[in-house]
Amino acid sequence: MSDSRALLMKKLLAICPVCKKPIYGKDIDVNNIDITKINHWPVKYTPCHSHNGTPVHALTMYIDSNFSVRGKEVSEFLKIQRK
Ligand SMILES: [Zn+2]
Repeated sequence: MSDSRALLMKKLLAICPVCKKPIYGKDIDVNNIDITKINHWPVKYTPCHSHNGTPVHALTMYIDSNFSVRGKEVSEFLKIQRK
């Protein structure tokens, strides 16, 4: 792991406006994202989570190539189907 990735793991990207959960680099699996395959920025990343007893919700973050969050949106309705 490069130094920049180690720093990114600890970086605070955003705070969820619904539940106030802090989202860190490690929460978005930066090691599993192949940055070389991303051909447009910002990328959208949507972690689904619940925190402090809130119902599960999806926070979409728009992340630029410096891994700074340019914007965020919360989905009020969420359905995930598993087969
Ligand atoms: Zn949240």
